[in-house]
Amino acid sequence: MISLSKPVIGKKELRSAIEVMKSGFLTQGSKVRELEEKMAELTGAKYAIAVNSGTAALHTALYSIGIKRGDEIITTPFTFIASVNSILMLGATPVFVDIDPATYNINPLKIEAVISRKTKAILAVNLFGQTADFGKINKVAKAHHLAVVEDAAQSIGAKYQKGVSGNLADISCFSFYATKNIMCAEGGMITTNNYDYYRRGVCFRNHGQEPDRKYEYSDIGYNYRMTDILASIALAQLEKIGHTTEKRREIARKYTQKLTQLEGLITPYESHGNYHTYHQYTIRVTNDCKRSRDKLKDYLFQKGIQTGIYYPKPLHLIPHVRKAMKRNYFLPVSEMASRHVISIPIHPGLTMKETDYVINSITNI
Ligand SMILES: *Cc1c(COP(=O)(O)O)cnc(C)c1O
Repeated sequence: MISLSKPVIGKKELRSAIEVMKSGFLTQGSKVRELEEKMAELTGAKYAIAVNSGTAALHTALYSIGIKRGDEIITTPFTFIASVNSILMLGATPVFVDIDPATYNINPLKIEAVISRKTKAILAVNLFGQTADFGKINKVAKAHHLAVVEDAAQSIGAKYQKGVSGNLADISCFSFYATKNIMCAEGGMITTNNYDYYRRGVCFRNHGQEPDRKYEYSDIGYNYRMTDILASIALAQLEKIGHTTEKRREIARKYTQKLTQLEGLITPYESHGNYHTYHQYTIRVTNDCKRSRDKLKDYLFQKGIQTGIYYPKPLHLIPHVRKAMKRNYFLPVSEMASRHVISIPIHPGLTMKETDYVINSITNI
């Protein structure tokens, strides 16, 4: 089976995890600090806070910017559930805006129409490894005094014009989940240039405890701390980010070159000035294709090729999310995308022979 994604685990990851375990200090310590420094360096952000998942990063970031019960947050329905669960965790209300069919990211031109007196922030997601259109998003946010949060779980290493993912908004969130471009099994990171957000985040990660005053609590908090064992794995991964991202881009170029010509398939679109990191290589199977998306998925499975559907249901149609919504939505682009998208194997370990096999299998339908 050719797998959809696969972590690249080298000697360095194995050796450094063992070293930490042998040292006897396992929890949040010097390795976590080192990872925070490296992420600040990579993104150019002033501050970084390591946490134990991307979801924890989003929850912490929204808390840090002051989101409270009843606040409205504008976001996309075409994302992983964690983006919206983090809004619900704080008792806030998601307000959905449809996506751009070319990039699958939130359509910035549709944001202004849904801003209300209760709107506090825009949570934009960089889906599949390409950043949202932060030029337009930040402009509308500024005009209405809204905070902007970047869900960068899928876009580590991505670039937008002169900016870098993790430094395109007021606060950004990464995930180091096993399938992400940089991983340590489970983990997350927040980056920001705002000192107040940073301070609030650091407390929230550790039971609300003030970092330099033990057993003094500024507010409720969680145990969202990362371990040094996992930080050492993420550090080893980060050393290779340039190479592993280029490998993904090389595979993507090859796919696009061959698959673009096929009728009924729409290959990913890289916006001008963007550096897409291809966390997923996602194509759209339109009604002009000889097989439906689901038939194509079954066919590729029989050929020994694993695929994924990200995402089969837009979030405004998920029951627990609907309960928190103030109204119903009809978001035709997201609903169409959910029916038509399929992600095909892409990871740095995929060989050129395997890439050709995937291309040939799709071409032969
Ligand atoms: C993976 C992911 C998350 C959540 O990250 P975890 O580390 O799995 O908690 C959030 N948002 C998006 C877009 C993701 O892909």
